[in-house]
Amino acid sequence: RAKEDGRNTVRFFEPWMQHAITARTRLIAELRRALDAGQFVLYYQPQVEDGHLMGAEALLRWRHPERGLVGPGEFIGVAEHAELILPIGAWVMRAACEQLARWAACPRSAHLTMAVNISIRQLMEDNFVRDTLDAIAATGARPTHLKLEVTESMVIERVEETISKMEQLQRHGVRFSLDDFGTGYSSLAYLKRLPLEQLKIDRSFVRDILVDPNDASIARSVVALARALGLSIIAEGVETAAQRDMLREIGCHRFQGYFFGKPMPAEEFDAALAAETIP
Ligand code: C2E
Ligand code: MG
Ligand code: MG
Ligand code: MG
Repeated sequence: RAKEDGRNTVRFFEPWMQHAITARTRLIAELRRALDAGQFVLYYQPQVEDGHLMGAEALLRWRHPERGLVGPGEFIGVAEHAELILPIGAWVMRAACEQLARWAACPRSAHLTMAVNISIRQLMEDNFVRDTLDAIAATGARPTHLKLEVTESMVIERVEETISKMEQLQRHGVRFSLDDFGTGYSSLAYLKRLPLEQLKIDRSFVRDILVDPNDASIARSVVALARALGLSIIAEGVETAAQRDMLREIGCHRFQGYFFGKPMPAEEFDAALAAETIP
């Protein structure tokens, strides 16, 4: 049969395609079960301002029974396409707010803010504002200590609707940070209209900031832009003291990265807090 078709014929379904589809279908089913089985967990990475711990970013992990700890890079994309991001995102919001309320109850951690990553699919949902306020109310978390991280690529769609939802939450004190800034397609025209509190310089500009003059220039420009728009600025992916010093020099005083602490389970985060080993 292959001979008849000739060498250049492409059948509609190549075996590898079937494999990919099967793997994807299996992953979707597995993710659904993982949510029910309580296999998701949030890790918390310190966010530091001028040598003081200011808060944490909640980062999703999957405690897979066979594969161990699986990072979001391996499943968030698939979850987004399968709409599974909605129940998963709701779980993340609830768990992050619960942790935020626990921190609020202890004097040592009462000041901490919680950054939560939000997917475009969540923000486009009609119930997003109400569900978020419900999670806040149900857990007793303070909305002023909640920071939602959205990415540039996602806010570009349906701008009016997005801005309206962000403003509704903002009226309750919730703040917004623009994640991975510089990697998407920012339109400065709508950037100024988004109710943001913070820009987050993407890790890709921080990595070579000491050796690549272009990266340093971009970081400098992002800081200047944030300042012009009245926004605060944080750098992600800070791995060395030298990177931190350079960022300070250009006017960035909030940091997140392995240099200050890796993402860790709540118990470990609290232990580090008690031992004063972070930042
Ligand atoms: P992000 O929001 O930009 O998060 C920062 C990522 O950089 C995290 O990867 C973090 O572990 C990693 N990171 C932090 N410091 C350093 C550093 O110094 N060096 C290096 N090389 N990496 C560092 P992670 O946890 O694998 O998350 C990847 C992405 O998955 C996140 O990027 C975010 O876009 C998404 N994500 C994570 N949790 C959630 C979630 O609950 N919901 C949604 N929708 N997306 C999530
Ligand atoms: Mg983030
Ligand atoms: Mg980021
Ligand atoms: Mg990133």
